[in-house]
Amino acid sequence: MVTMYYEKDVNKEALRGKTIAIIGYGSQGHAQAQNLRDSGYQVIVGLREGKSWEQAAKDGFEVMSVAEATSRADVVQILMPDERQAKVYENEIAPNLKAGATLSFSHGFNVHFGQIVPPANVDVIMVAPKSPGHLVRRVYQEGFGVPGLIAIYQDATGKAKETALAYASGIGNTRAGVLETTFREETETDLFGEQAVLCGGVTELVKAGFDTLTEAGYAPEIAYFECLHELKLIVDLMYEGGMARMRYSISDTAEYGDYSTGRRIITEETRKEMKKVLAEIQDGTFARNWILENQANRPGFNARRRMEAEHPIEQVGEKLRGMMSWINK
Ligand code: NDP
Ligand code: MG
Ligand code: MG
Repeated sequence: MVTMYYEKDVNKEALRGKTIAIIGYGSQGHAQAQNLRDSGYQVIVGLREGKSWEQAAKDGFEVMSVAEATSRADVVQILMPDERQAKVYENEIAPNLKAGATLSFSHGFNVHFGQIVPPANVDVIMVAPKSPGHLVRRVYQEGFGVPGLIAIYQDATGKAKETALAYASGIGNTRAGVLETTFREETETDLFGEQAVLCGGVTELVKAGFDTLTEAGYAPEIAYFECLHELKLIVDLMYEGGMARMRYSISDTAEYGDYSTGRRIITEETRKEMKKVLAEIQDGTFARNWILENQANRPGFNARRRMEAEHPIEQVGEKLRGMMSWINK
């Protein structure tokens, strides 16, 4: 078993009196900045002028340019979109980083794939909440926290781990449990999980089921409920008690169908393809394609986003959810 860290393992003094610059005030940025402030730490926010700047100022933070925030900070937490980080790092962060400061991330992509190459005189760490930003904030306000990962890429001061744990505690992660990993492991497993299972795998599975039913003449509304809506109810049971709890709750007929049909859908061929997907993450093929796609202003990404929005499951879903008062409150 890997080691888990909790509140008792944290030296909160490690960040006391230090200035933490949060760069970016989006999903993770607003949540981490506010949690750290509520935990008693000194937080400033680095941004360009615009909507986020106004929001952070309205939330009571001292907001300044990325360059100025970096030059004042002992810890610089980079929470801009991954595909923007390298350029902002090169122009505004690298020239202003203090020696002995901590450069920190919530995802290892840019460091692991060599898009950001930090100088030798800073600590480089990762503190990655395993949750969307808005839950990082909400769960903290409820007095608990979401689980998180820490990783040490470079330990110039000998205190990198202490800093990472104190930061993780400041955003609430050590209340739930923190696991230590590496930049490589976090980056590759995160990309694989979202591509093969959580996002790519699930959306294609849902659409394939929906298309099969509607092409056979069944009502799209019924197909929507069977293949998309009910997914949440099933996943909630798995989240609470694994597959066993889910299978305990469904009918024996559903359980028998689960056993007899699942492997006809996720076949040996699918598993082989998963291995290829993983290999292309490991050897940098996926990273290169995504970096080049951004440099070309995302033609493929934008086209795909539009086509996906046009799929009939999105039209019927919008109509049905409009009548689900409990979702739209
Ligand atoms: P967002 O897309 O929500 O971040 C957008 C923020 O970055 C905005 O405040 C935006 O400001 C700012 N920004 C964009 N470009 C610049 C720029 N050139 N200069 C200054 N600020 C800029 O990012 P996320 O919170 O989703 O992701 C942040 C990091 O956290 C990523 O590394 C991601 O992988 C990681 N992560 C994200 C999770 C999530 O829940 N989303 C979960 C776990 C990790 P403006 O309004 O001016 O555009
Ligand atoms: Mg990810
Ligand atoms: Mg059913």
